[in-house]
Amino acid sequence: MTPLILVTNDDGVRAPGLAILAQALQAIGQVVIVAPDQDNSAASHSLTMKRPLRVKDLGQDRYSVDGTPTDCVTLALGKILPHKPQLVVSGINPGPNLGDDVSYSGTVSAAVEGTMLGAPSLAVSLAGEEPFCFETAAAFAVTLARTILDKGLPKDTLLNVNVPNRRPEEIHGVRFTRQGRRVYDGAIKETFDPWGRQHYWIGGGTPFWDEGEDTDAQAILAGYVSVTPLHLDLTNHAALRKLGAEWKLSI
Ligand code: MN
Repeated sequence: MTPLILVTNDDGVRAPGLAILAQALQAIGQVVIVAPDQDNSAASHSLTMKRPLRVKDLGQDRYSVDGTPTDCVTLALGKILPHKPQLVVSGINPGPNLGDDVSYSGTVSAAVEGTMLGAPSLAVSLAGEEPFCFETAAAFAVTLARTILDKGLPKDTLLNVNVPNRRPEEIHGVRFTRQGRRVYDGAIKETFDPWGRQHYWIGGGTPFWDEGEDTDAQAILAGYVSVTPLHLDLTNHAALRKLGAEWKLSI
């Protein structure tokens, strides 16, 4: 049976990374695109609950939603698709989703939502700057998709994939990594509007990374593809044991 593959993103239904990813995945399954009608980057895992959502059928198995990536996955699995997809693939994001980025990322959150709804899911991002060349990341996404369709994923687990924005021969290999810390310095710009009123703009800044060869960001810096298995359970289990044993709380 041909697998059904949902392709979504946070950059909007017209984003080039989405089209190239969808086209590549058509080699291994029936692809349906359900994506936001506008750029929703940094939308995180937000769900639209205070207004209705409209779905537009754009033809050829493409749908847009006037909502967030999470809305798209929710509506796709709940209403649009004929049955639960064998795979949800989100991307390809033009820019990395490493370390702390994961918390803000709409790209990753779409894969989180897919996982919550019981479909194996992965998020694919291109680590680098313009000009973006999506083809290498799309080809790797197909390889990974084939492997997931064959082997499945561990329970409640999604893959966060970052591919260096380089030519294939300049990528050294693939590393399984842990989510590192990626903190931005100077990400708040302070400036003035034409009326002299002060305002702030969050974005940009210089990222710096924590130590540790096994992190997602270090793999990218070293020229490797980074594949990070993320778990829906955000519990720090070591801390749970420690606090439970050592803190004697009462109320
Ligand atoms: Mn984006």
